[in-house]
Amino acid sequence: DPTAARRPAESVQVESPNLTYTDEALLARYTFHSTSVDKQVDGQGHVKYHARPVERQLEFKTGRKVPKTGLMLVGLGGNNGTTLAATVLANRHNISWGTRDGIQTPNYLGSLIRASTMRLGVDAAGEDVFVPISDVLPMVHPNDLVIGGWDISGMPLDKAARRAKVLEYDLQRQLEPLLKEYTPLPSIYYPTFINANQEERADNVIPGSDKQAHLEQVRRDIRDFKAKNDLDQVIVLWTANTERYSRLLDGVNDTADNLLDAIRSSHDEVSPSTVFAVACILEGVPFVNGSPQNTFVPGAIELAERHMAFIAGDDFKSGQTKVKSVLAEYLVNAGIKPLLIASYNHLGNNDGKNLSAPEQFRSKEISKASVVDDMVESNSLLYKPLAKRTADSKDGFVKGHATEHPDHCVVIKYMEQCGDDKKALDDYTSEIGMGGRNTLSIYNTCQDSLLATPLIIDLCLLAELMTRVTYREESTQAGEYEPLYSVLGLLSYMLKAPLTKPGRKPINSLNRQRQALEAFLRACLALQPVSDLVSFTQMN
Ligand code: NAD
Repeated sequence: DPTAARRPAESVQVESPNLTYTDEALLARYTFHSTSVDKQVDGQGHVKYHARPVERQLEFKTGRKVPKTGLMLVGLGGNNGTTLAATVLANRHNISWGTRDGIQTPNYLGSLIRASTMRLGVDAAGEDVFVPISDVLPMVHPNDLVIGGWDISGMPLDKAARRAKVLEYDLQRQLEPLLKEYTPLPSIYYPTFINANQEERADNVIPGSDKQAHLEQVRRDIRDFKAKNDLDQVIVLWTANTERYSRLLDGVNDTADNLLDAIRSSHDEVSPSTVFAVACILEGVPFVNGSPQNTFVPGAIELAERHMAFIAGDDFKSGQTKVKSVLAEYLVNAGIKPLLIASYNHLGNNDGKNLSAPEQFRSKEISKASVVDDMVESNSLLYKPLAKRTADSKDGFVKGHATEHPDHCVVIKYMEQCGDDKKALDDYTSEIGMGGRNTLSIYNTCQDSLLATPLIIDLCLLAELMTRVTYREESTQAGEYEPLYSVLGLLSYMLKAPLTKPGRKPINSLNRQRQALEAFLRACLALQPVSDLVSFTQMN
């Protein structure tokens, strides 16, 4: 089984004057090549692009010691939380289970890190050599993660896994003695942020309405978990219910200090997820938001920057959106013009139940809305700037964009009998040559939580790795190595609406997201990105 348990191994050894191995770290000298472009338009409207190659000398330092790591989930008792715990335990204890098809063994399929490879280079015969991504740099093995977390439902995980109805009965049965040892910690519950239909679950809440006290309790929980399990590192990840958006209010959540004050005064617009984010930032543990709401209000991002703490979000990119970003990129890069993208979903799990109210649905809708924006903006031959809209532009483009934009709608309906097996139907209708039309219909069905769980693992493993990588410009060699920027954009591959540095646009292209990750892993080993220049031209 290609994904079976493997201890962290540095199976890739680099022989280069630019890479030094010490007991503690990998020290890489790396020349980053980019192209600086200046676009000019003359009086007649002719465009000229002035391109200039730019080089930057960087040094990366990657800690080689893989820390003992805990993963604390907010929403531990939900479908994703229980499925994650079950997946890790089944893998760790090598538990197989009977299905109508025979015996199934545990694995980490769907995890970029544990189940995919990247091209390292070519061998002497000119053949490509691929390595598991997990083996490129020292990384935590998911089997070694110590799992814990919070839920407003206090059900122990054996019962919660049954409630979730994701796993096969024989696996639930075998995991029962292990899962029942896990009971979620009480969590923060502010009823206005999630659907009223969740109230019946909320039997495990931190008492009172003092948000400062809640913040301190969560901070204590993290410290206690770390101490009790003798951990070097903790990653916290929100996989609790989708909240409504917090209103952005001047003086409340616009700056770090105002947000801290707003928590002190228990302001209504501070959501549970923002309290968790602030607690993690103040504790210096990475916090990842797997749901779509605006947990990272401007004040939270500023606070993370101030504390050089790591944050990432938003919303796991598990199914429909991943396909959409890939299809939109393929179409636009092929010179085909998507005119409309219509997405319909129905699902019957608790996530769907929560999303059945307009405010929670709205969070999801926003998160799913912008995924094709960068593809559209990348091709001005297909999508004209709106100010210069020509007579041949078609009507019906979405307002609020600087350029033409395909019509795009997302519908989500809760249908209980659908269970965790989400159904997603998409229609992509595009303009092809000479006024022709092309329609692609995609029908996607799978267990939602079995797609999300490997993403949780990847987000955790990558966030942990990012805490061990520091860098400096070579010109300031005497200077200290600095941590990466607080918002971990390299986790975008797993996230639907990637959080970015304020003022920067997200990159949704799955291809670019993966290439960036590969380039980063290689840079830590002083290796340039792989190129196919020679493979396709046979210049060797
Ligand atoms: P779920 O409803 O089964 O689980 C959520 C859990 O969070 C529940 O057990 C609930 O009791 C708990 N909860 C609610 N508010 C809480 C709080 N304040 N503190 C602690 N716990 C709280 O949902 P799920 O299917 O596990 O999905 C979890 C989240 O992940 C949802 O927001 C969903 O939109 C998001 N998401 C899921 C997928 C996917 O499963 N494929 C993809 C993208 C995003």
